[in-house]
Amino acid sequence: MTKQCKQCSKTFQISSDDQTFYQKISVPEPTLCPDCRSQRRLVWRNERSLYSRQCDLCHKPIISLYRANSPYTVYCYACWYSDQWNGSDYAREIDWQRSFFDQFKELQLRVPRLSAFMVNNENCEYTNGTLGCKDCYMIFASDHNENCMYSYGIFSSVTTLDVLSGKNCELCYDCIGCTNCFNVRYSEDASNCNTAYFLLDCKGCGDCFMSYGLHNRNYVWKNEQLTEAEYKERLAKTQLGSTQTIKRLKADFKELKKKHTFKYYHGQNNDNFSGDYLERCHNTWQSFECYEIDNCKFITHGNQIKDCYDGYMNVDQCELGYELVGSVGAYNTKFAAACYTGSYSYYIDSCKQVKNVFGCIGLQNQQYCILNKQYSEQEYCITRDKLIKQMSAIGEYGEFFPVSCSPFTYNETAAMDSFPLSQTDVVNRGWNWHTPPDKQQRFSSYRLPDTIDKVEDDVLENFLTCEQCQTFYKIIPAELRLYREHIIPVPRQCFNCRHAGRLQQHTQRSLWQRQCMCTRPPGQAAGVAGAAQPEHGHGGLCQNNFETAYSTDSITIVYCEDCYNKTIV
Ligand SMILES: [Zn+2]
Ligand SMILES: [Zn+2]
Ligand SMILES: [Zn+2]
Ligand SMILES: [Zn+2]
Ligand SMILES: [Zn+2]
Repeated sequence: MTKQCKQCSKTFQISSDDQTFYQKISVPEPTLCPDCRSQRRLVWRNERSLYSRQCDLCHKPIISLYRANSPYTVYCYACWYSDQWNGSDYAREIDWQRSFFDQFKELQLRVPRLSAFMVNNENCEYTNGTLGCKDCYMIFASDHNENCMYSYGIFSSVTTLDVLSGKNCELCYDCIGCTNCFNVRYSEDASNCNTAYFLLDCKGCGDCFMSYGLHNRNYVWKNEQLTEAEYKERLAKTQLGSTQTIKRLKADFKELKKKHTFKYYHGQNNDNFSGDYLERCHNTWQSFECYEIDNCKFITHGNQIKDCYDGYMNVDQCELGYELVGSVGAYNTKFAAACYTGSYSYYIDSCKQVKNVFGCIGLQNQQYCILNKQYSEQEYCITRDKLIKQMSAIGEYGEFFPVSCSPFTYNETAAMDSFPLSQTDVVNRGWNWHTPPDKQQRFSSYRLPDTIDKVEDDVLENFLTCEQCQTFYKIIPAELRLYREHIIPVPRQCFNCRHAGRLQQHTQRSLWQRQCMCTRPPGQAAGVAGAAQPEHGHGGLCQNNFETAYSTDSITIVYCEDCYNKTIV
């Protein structure tokens, strides 16, 4: 069935499988297209904008996702989880004459909010979405790391900086999507590699430079096999500590990407699926960065979930869920943000272990509540059904919270990364925008030398001007120590611009229908020249079609899995 999006007017499809799912969980069919629904969820995620402020209960200074002048009451972790307050203190009667979302918004403005999402960390004040980390700085949506900085989506890594999506990495710098790597820099999609620079889609390689599509190789330079002595000589001549050199090499690396043949998606061990960065997923469609998910659709960052549609970030161990943001362990729950365990609930925000609640905020271990007010089981069921009926009549039921209910401004959130809008666009839509205090008025005369060995300690006392967005940024002593020790030039851009640059290199969360570009007989295949090429079982152009996150207008060469596997040397 074809529908037209209420927000962007584009048409979108609802399949019979989708209809079955919506019926199973008793929600009307969506009125927004998948992208607009995704945008509406993403505005709930301020992942990287941190502010200094006070806890509104203990008045200690804290680092928070909420500005000091934000209209919300904000408690530090200890106060929010203490018994000094209770969500029921803010209970409200339903006003049947008014919109439910308006009443929900009013409740939000009263119930205290958790300052930031940090659990069991040590010395990781300037982070968010972190768990079990130690001595980390400016890392986000990342667990079990030590001594890591300026990264997003890193797990179990040590002394790793400027990484987007990494797992089990040590001493890695400026990488995207690398796993089990040691001392790898400026690389993408490398796994099990050791001491390498500018690698693309390589596995099990050591001492390699500016190469792509290699498996288990050593001393390869620009996809050319060298002897150990030759390799070491070339590397010694390369000024890795010079900003100019790294800039030039990064430009070369961009050119190299055009030559490489990519598998149409990242991941393995999936069946019946579409998306990118998937592992062990089954009957899963239009989903990204997911692990072990089953019968799901429109999920980004899902982990071990079943029968869920529409989820973003930390959707972990959920079943029968719909429109979830940052929710862990939810069963049969619809429209939830920042919730931890619970079941049979609707429209919940920052709740823990709730069951049968509707439109509640900041409740823990409670059931049969609406707008934080306690009802008997029977009253709850009658009132809930009446509310669903009334909300359905005015088109509220079935919709996720409107953007205006997000506790953050548009440009503070992950929506800005995936759906960038100008201030005017945001304001015209009636959404909120925050203009940060203008740092640009200050003047910095400090000039960084080209090479790291010439950088003096006074760099720490000075503001640096980002060469891209012109705002000021600083570097910290631990960071400078690492740059010096490992001969890495001081970055010329602020973290925001560096992160945005990496996001641009990463595939987008959209899919295009494409055909495998492999033609036989082989031309010059990818890999090291001279290696034997296996047979492909097709003459001329391969007829395999697929959905891929490599867009039709990108010049990326994409192959089906079968053809791609045969290019590996
Ligand atoms: Zn739309
Ligand atoms: Zn406090
Ligand atoms: Zn910048
Ligand atoms: Zn093919
Ligand atoms: Zn082929």
